[in-house]
Amino acid sequence: MLHAELDQTVNNNNVSVAVIGAGVVGLCTALEAQRKGCQVTLFDRDEPGLGASFGNAGYLATELIEPLSNPQTLRAALTLWLSPNGPLSLPVQYLLNIAPWLIRFIKAAAPKPLANSRQGLIRLNAAAVEAWQRCLADIGASEQILKSGYLLVWESPGKMADAVKHQRWLGENGVAAELVQGDRLAEMEPGLAGQISHALYFPDAHRVRDPYTLCRLLFASFEARGGVFIQQGVAQLMPELTPEHSSENSPARQVAVATEQSQYRFEKVIVCAGAWSKKLLRDVGLSVPLEAERGYHLTIPGAVTLLKNSIGSAERKFVMGPLDSGLRVVGISQLGGLKLGPFDRCFNILRHHSRQLLPGLTDPSLEVSEWMGHRPTLPDSLPVIDQHPQHRQLLFAFGHQHLGLTQAAITAELIIQRMQNEDTQIDLTPYRVTRF
Ligand SMILES: Cc1cc2nc3c(=O)[nH]c(=O)nc-3n(C[C@H](O)[C@H](O)[C@H](O)COP(=O)(O)OP(=O)(O)OC[C@H]3O[C@@H](n4cnc5c(N)ncnc54)[C@H](O)[C@@H]3O)c2cc1C
Repeated sequence: MLHAELDQTVNNNNVSVAVIGAGVVGLCTALEAQRKGCQVTLFDRDEPGLGASFGNAGYLATELIEPLSNPQTLRAALTLWLSPNGPLSLPVQYLLNIAPWLIRFIKAAAPKPLANSRQGLIRLNAAAVEAWQRCLADIGASEQILKSGYLLVWESPGKMADAVKHQRWLGENGVAAELVQGDRLAEMEPGLAGQISHALYFPDAHRVRDPYTLCRLLFASFEARGGVFIQQGVAQLMPELTPEHSSENSPARQVAVATEQSQYRFEKVIVCAGAWSKKLLRDVGLSVPLEAERGYHLTIPGAVTLLKNSIGSAERKFVMGPLDSGLRVVGISQLGGLKLGPFDRCFNILRHHSRQLLPGLTDPSLEVSEWMGHRPTLPDSLPVIDQHPQHRQLLFAFGHQHLGLTQAAITAELIIQRMQNEDTQIDLTPYRVTRF
């Protein structure tokens, strides 16, 4: 219910654009729209950067080109779910809600959809780092991205064949990785426990200095360039209907943005509301199987020097790495929706695994902060980057699952190219909103 019907048209010579959601995707999108000369208003019910974009690992994971739903994951799922320290969590109170989504997730692992989704990820990831470099150079913050290196480690010597096979498969898909072990591995990461057998090293890997600092910098540039921020939750989007006999000369259709306090009107609206986008789409006649895939982190400011690279454990399924705010340990894939609070058990799983790999973390004097956030995940692991099929003034950029930081800058370029009716640098067919 609206408290006020303040029908406020944002009048500008330039196109008026509203971006809903000030996470990393919305912030990059808002800045990109400004670069094209639009007058941009950004909505978020919170301060910018406090959603999933606050607590991610800060790693540009361009080598993650395999969709989450694949035969290997499905084969391992039951074991991972039942294992007391496993990375997969399905709270029993959410099982009924998640069942239809799980069926779609399983279907997404069939050979043809899997191959399509993989191609969709490969194209976005291949363009991701350069898009970030353009975005950050433009706002004078190039130093926020570091060529950092990434190590994917195995503890079991018996899993050497897995590493070699993975390296070959990555190479076939254009991702360079070197096999490292023994003294070289120890030199690269002296803090890692001696039980690491071997690793794949990704020399071209990048990370950001700190995900939240990055969001604050993007937001500061947005405001400095005349962007307007309205800290209100958006309750509903109401696109004006396109008349049957509209012509080139008809006035542009607008979209009303209703918050709990007011109503505003814009020529274009872009939904970048992460895991919360589903309801806004339902109100405009679109159904998307978007789930909140909850992930957890520990941040340990006093332990930042224990690692040089970002590290992923192939067997324990978690990631840790140095950030300006501290050593960050992230992991857990919990299909638990938007309403449940965090589960202490999940923080303890991260504690357990990180201490096993990095004994320096057992120091009881280390202070640790805990956080849980919602990854916006679709069954095929691809985001939506598209326009409403009927209301072309309404656009969408959400659903980036584990790769929202990686893909934010390229997504912003693509959605604004689509908004401007320009040719997009990547074919957007795999990311259609109506594909489900
Ligand atoms: C533990 C963890 C680790 C991760 N690690 C990485 C990583 O290393 N690399 C990587 O690439 N990705 C990583 N990710 C994924 C990445 O963080 C997300 O994909 C990304 O942050 C999504 O960004 P977003 O802008 O779409 O969503 P969000 O950051 O969640 O932003 C959405 C915003 O929309 C606002 N909003 C929602 N609904 C409304 C409404 N109705 N009205 C107004 N505002 C609204 C919210 O308040 C929020 O601020 C990780 C995620 C997690 C949880």
